[in-house]
Amino acid sequence: MSDNCIFCKIVRGEIPCKKVYEDDDLLAFHDINPQAPVHFMVIPKRHIASLAEVRPDDAPLMGRLFAKLGELAGSQGLSDGFRTIVNTGRIGRQEVYHLHIHVLGGQEPLGPMLPRK
Ligand code: 5GP
Ligand code: ZN
Repeated sequence: MSDNCIFCKIVRGEIPCKKVYEDDDLLAFHDINPQAPVHFMVIPKRHIASLAEVRPDDAPLMGRLFAKLGELAGSQGLSDGFRTIVNTGRIGRQEVYHLHIHVLGGQEPLGPMLPRK
């Protein structure tokens, strides 16, 4: 739990969100600034700053999170596929330092994986 972390505040219910799914360990909610017709994020409720901070002890939690993505994407109508993005650190242009997996879809084509320079 991190006092000033915006996603911890969402987990605690201090900031509202459009919830997709919740259980004891995980929360999924729609991005406030969607980059595709469907754009939600799945996070561990426990504060982990980024993928760079994930440790071997976190493997069961990470397994649960990734095992849930397909089902959640399906629940949002993404039966033909979707894209997952995990921005990490400065180079990855991470803005919110609480690990989150973006799930995007509902648009064809979705565009290139990275913008071409
Ligand atoms: P990052 O760049 O860290 O991978 O992405 C952070 C994402 O969090 C952005 O897509 C941004 O729109 C989203 N975001 C930031 N603040 C909030 C918020 O208060 N509520 C929701 N639902 N999304 C947020
Ligand atoms: Zn947090």
